[in-house]
Amino acid sequence: MHEDDKKNAVQRGNFDPNTVFDKILTGELPAEILFQNELVTAFMDIQPITTGHVLVIPNERAASLSELPTTTGAEIFKVGQSVAAAIRKSNLQCEGINLFLADGVAAGQTVFHVHLHIFPRYKNDGFKWSLPDRYYSPPERSELAAAREEISGHFNL
Ligand code: AMP
Repeated sequence: MHEDDKKNAVQRGNFDPNTVFDKILTGELPAEILFQNELVTAFMDIQPITTGHVLVIPNERAASLSELPTTTGAEIFKVGQSVAAAIRKSNLQCEGINLFLADGVAAGQTVFHVHLHIFPRYKNDGFKWSLPDRYYSPPERSELAAAREEISGHFNL
């Protein structure tokens, strides 16, 4: 976990390395487990944005993406894709699906154990993205190029 995030989380009083998800993995807390293999576990979110909201988490402790082995990250997405396919085929009859992952306090992360949200979407389901004003006045291409340059200097695969 990044140091700033740890500080912010502690200030918000919600950083506990033993997260609720650890307790779900050990069976200390109940959960509606949908799928589990040696790398990941998928279970129902306790406060669903819409009915059918699922979380996929790594079985090993990783507070942030930077601590997560990429093979486990790939497995999380693979299982998330299968969950999305199952939701589509189910009687939930959703019109769309969102996959969402909050990495860091500023990104909205509240439980410090990596998790991918998968939730069904419906027209007028009340879920909204709040976009900043800058979104509606896109920058010059030179700003995009500068950002690409900055990121590419650190990109490894
Ligand atoms: P995030 O804001 O991305 O960190 O999301 C954390 C998610 O964990 C929220 O959607 C919560 O509803 C969910 N959550 C917290 N505690 C539990 C629990 N005991 N069982 C299932 N989901 C939980």
